[in-house]
Amino acid sequence: MKIKIDDKKRQIIIDRYFRIGGVVVPNQYCEDCGSVIIYYDQYDNEFCPYCNKWLSAPCGDASCTYCRVRPNEPLEIKTLADTIHENIE
Ligand SMILES: [Zn+2]
Ligand SMILES: [Zn+2]
Repeated sequence: MKIKIDDKKRQIIIDRYFRIGGVVVPNQYCEDCGSVIIYYDQYDNEFCPYCNKWLSAPCGDASCTYCRVRPNEPLEIKTLADTIHENIE
């Protein structure tokens, strides 16, 4: 897995496939695999790209707009933005 970090654009590119708005969380590593942790802007949550799992469970608030749209696996779906970027390249 290749992870490219673009701090200026606040973008993380994973395997040239996933283009995520977010940042690498400083000084925090996955307890299971030791990978860097990525903060996913769109879902207001942190995840491990190698384990492909969220660090925290949904908050349980039915009105929370972040958790409601959050996929089970962080790298499960391509966003529309990803597709647009790909077409440009
Ligand atoms: Zn991990
Ligand atoms: Zn929530």
